[in-house]
Amino acid sequence: MNAGQKQVAILGAGLTGLLVAEALSRRGDAVVVLEREAQPGGFCRSVNIGGRRVERYYHHVFPNETPVVELLNRLDFASDLKWFRVRQGVIQNNTAKAYDNPWSYLRQALSPPTDLFFDLRFAARIGAVDLAELDRLPALAWLRRWQSRTKVERFWLPLLIKKFGPFAERISARWLAERVTTRQSSKGWMQRGETLGHLAGGFFRLTDRLAERCAKQGVTFQFGVEVQKIEVRDGRVLALDTAQGKLPAGDAVVSTLASPALAGLLENHDDEWVRIARATPYMSCRCVTLLLSRSLSPFYWLSNLDAADFAAVIEQSKFFDDGTHLIYLPQYIFPTSIEQKESAKKNAVEWLSKVFPPFNADSVSEDIVSIDAFSQPVFLAGDDRQKWQTLRPLANLLATDAYLDYPHQRRTMNAAIRRAAAVVELLG
Ligand SMILES: Cc1cc2nc3c(=O)[nH]c(=O)nc-3n(C[C@H](O)[C@H](O)[C@H](O)COP(=O)(O)OP(=O)(O)OC[C@H]3O[C@@H](n4cnc5c(N)ncnc54)[C@H](O)[C@@H]3O)c2cc1C
Repeated sequence: MNAGQKQVAILGAGLTGLLVAEALSRRGDAVVVLEREAQPGGFCRSVNIGGRRVERYYHHVFPNETPVVELLNRLDFASDLKWFRVRQGVIQNNTAKAYDNPWSYLRQALSPPTDLFFDLRFAARIGAVDLAELDRLPALAWLRRWQSRTKVERFWLPLLIKKFGPFAERISARWLAERVTTRQSSKGWMQRGETLGHLAGGFFRLTDRLAERCAKQGVTFQFGVEVQKIEVRDGRVLALDTAQGKLPAGDAVVSTLASPALAGLLENHDDEWVRIARATPYMSCRCVTLLLSRSLSPFYWLSNLDAADFAAVIEQSKFFDDGTHLIYLPQYIFPTSIEQKESAKKNAVEWLSKVFPPFNADSVSEDIVSIDAFSQPVFLAGDDRQKWQTLRPLANLLATDAYLDYPHQRRTMNAAIRRAAAVVELLG
């Protein structure tokens, strides 16, 4: 080993783990990445459907997400990042309706005509507000102050319930403001739809390329290796236990797992960090992906305001140019009771048949159901656990959970880049 070279073990080969591995190996550290799946990518990794690789989950970038754009440029993907003007709508009373420009807002019974005034006032408010002020305020309380009752009850409340279930009333206004601000970067007030970026083929190409770079720089990958236990002694990680054997901790261990998942692995260690991390609220995601014989609608994104469990219908193939029709139907679930693949698929087909006749089971040529625990952090108003938590729960253990990215409240590729950079800096 060279002088100054560190030995670092990374848990997880998702975007965050790969970025940390790439940066550390570039400066000469000896890096091992342990990944329980057979391939890299995490949420970005691919699945096979209809004989082609597609993203396991839908991804896009917004125009103001400069770090992702810069990362793609650095990895020679500049010409593969394509920008599309795509349309949005809502599903209400089993009908898909446009909801992506002032005229469509007025046409929908979601908002009384005066809502255009409220929307403009709200947009101006978000532009001027000090985000720190919003930390302690529940999003719905904030919305009730600035938007009409009809808009809050018929639009915002169902959206928040679909995403955060029992936590909907307690979600922080800051989370909502950060999301709306990002969205504003992709919209023109009088234009239809919004401008979103997509990596041709899918964002698994980004994580594949990072993994290739890492391998060239000497990173060792162990795929199909799940860390089952983290042995701790005297405030330090001693070793990582896997079904395939024990790995000594080396100089540092970087976890890219959600805080409650990491806390569940720490053996013989029960301090305040662990207790808080264990109770950190997360939603699980169950997502039905369907390959269809034809397009469902002109919309890329349809938010569901009806009772059906699905949060949205996302026609990701609006970003494709090969005649494929691919849709994603995510459901956010709490608690982590996430199996039931068959019933999820059956419910999806039944619901789509009502909303998009003549769609029926024969319209589906292939399907996949993806399930992940700990996929959506729940950012609660007035929750000081973020400020309290540290990126370094133990002397030689660093954590990159989205919850630890205070003051930001985002779970995106952009945020993963920020968290990876923070951990690399801490490692000195
Ligand atoms: C449904 C959905 C849609 C999304 N859409 C977007 C979007 O449009 N735009 C955007 O910017 N972001 C989006 N994201 C977020 C984005 O995918 C992530 O922020 C990004 O991929 C970074 O993930 P990560 O590396 O932090 O975590 P992950 O991708 O979860 O990586 C963690 C890795 O750790 C592995 N692992 C877990 N436990 C163990 C263990 N015990 N031992 C070994 N390995 C383990 C996992 O298999 C995984 O590979 C979306 C996420 C989801 C779930």
